[in-house]
Amino acid sequence: MSGQKFYLTTAIDYVNGQPGLHHLYERAGADALARFHRQRGRDVYFLIGTDENATTNEKAAAEAGEPTRAFVDRLSAEFKRAADLWQISYDRFIRTTDPDHIASVQEFIRRWIANDDVYLSKYEGLYCTRCEAFYEESDLVDGKCQWHPGVPVERLSEENYFFRLTKYEQALKDLYRTQPDFCIPEIRRNEVLGWLDRGLRDISISRRNLKWGIPFPDHPEHTVYVWFDALINYVTGAGFPHDPARFAKWWPADVHLIGKDISRFHCIYWPAMLLAAKLPLPKQVYVHGHIEYGGQRLSKSAGNMIDPFASAEEWGVDGIRYAVLRAAPLERDADVSAEIFNRLFNAELANGVGNTVQRTLAMIEKYCAGRIPATGKPGTPEQRVQDAAARALADHEAAARELRFSDAIGAIVELLRTVDKLYTDTKPWELAKQPEREDTLSSVLYTGAEAVRLAGLLLWPYTPGVSERISERLGQPRPDAPGWDRVARWGALAPGTQVRPGEGLFPRLELARA
Ligand SMILES: [Zn+2]
Repeated sequence: MSGQKFYLTTAIDYVNGQPGLHHLYERAGADALARFHRQRGRDVYFLIGTDENATTNEKAAAEAGEPTRAFVDRLSAEFKRAADLWQISYDRFIRTTDPDHIASVQEFIRRWIANDDVYLSKYEGLYCTRCEAFYEESDLVDGKCQWHPGVPVERLSEENYFFRLTKYEQALKDLYRTQPDFCIPEIRRNEVLGWLDRGLRDISISRRNLKWGIPFPDHPEHTVYVWFDALINYVTGAGFPHDPARFAKWWPADVHLIGKDISRFHCIYWPAMLLAAKLPLPKQVYVHGHIEYGGQRLSKSAGNMIDPFASAEEWGVDGIRYAVLRAAPLERDADVSAEIFNRLFNAELANGVGNTVQRTLAMIEKYCAGRIPATGKPGTPEQRVQDAAARALADHEAAARELRFSDAIGAIVELLRTVDKLYTDTKPWELAKQPEREDTLSSVLYTGAEAVRLAGLLLWPYTPGVSERISERLGQPRPDAPGWDRVARWGALAPGTQVRPGEGLFPRLELARA
């Protein structure tokens, strides 16, 4: 797959408040996937950004007593700062107020109009301003939005432009029949199939008399309904419509990574919007679960925000990325807490990765003058580690490819455990006292170092800093250097390589979190 393109997007966030841990949870997952593919030689384009034209942003600005434009500029910069701090390796941070995006949205609407997919009609119904979504009575739970029970649903009545969603009902059914993995995991796909079974209705795509938003082409008294603006960021990011060569290279997207509360928009509206604009569909929408903290969904409206800046300060960037990806598998909802993060940090990062790497390097310093020893003749304990490494490589690859990052990390943890066991079983410190067993000592330490090197390589998508430090300490090129197929196999570590002493892998560990 080396050289193949891979285009990955995340949801774009409303900028009606500060970023929270739940925003970074999705970014960290996407970043792991982007790095995973980059490391394996694919040409990756990774898009993240902010959704700025929503009335919820305008309201928040008014509440803050700031002009809307200045407010969204300031908050968007905070989302970008959080992504940068968390080392999210995006290629573009798109803002839906960017001029190329506005042009892209207007081009879509012109195409829909040309295709007779837009008509003027009166809308009467329910609207959740936090979701920025129209709802039927049957969508509500006890008369409230299921995602925002604390925010009253509004009743709207106005003349709007409508999109002929019903025209695409059969095409969508065909899509899910012929391409079942268009939306994964299965539990989310079944939800989408349920909506399709119940039948679709045309949807309002404009709002009247809003000052904030993208004007409807030729009808500036209407602004584009925010979702029919926001979704289009994925094609704007790929170069539509101003850069056809770039667009041809990157579109369609390989994966849209989104949360389960917005799957209707991505799995029903978005493919219909693209069909109506006569553009190819993305290959896959991956719908992740929600991260909860102490049993409560993290969200602004739940009044339950965990600060991603403080979290990165507390656990370190690698530590918080690791904790979130390991404790909150994308494929389901997950409950996390500071206690869970502490436990993972101590057990797996500090004592697992940190200690095993430190021990290995210290013994090579002490018994091999700081050089990777000869491979020696592997005995049974070393053979077990070598087998475990082969298994870890295969298990990790299979899990990460499916975005099961918690399982993928688990495979690495398992490999490092076998290294620990190798040292317990063979006692290199005893072998070092017996000159006639020098060959066994070599074999054991080579095996430990090689397993640590492989574990370090595999960690790069999740904890890039730690992974880079492990490579450096072992005298290896960066973990994302070209040549994955050459380095991601047993025996690539050259005997004689000088290892480098250094500080602990987790400088923050000295705080002795407990
Ligand atoms: Zn809502």
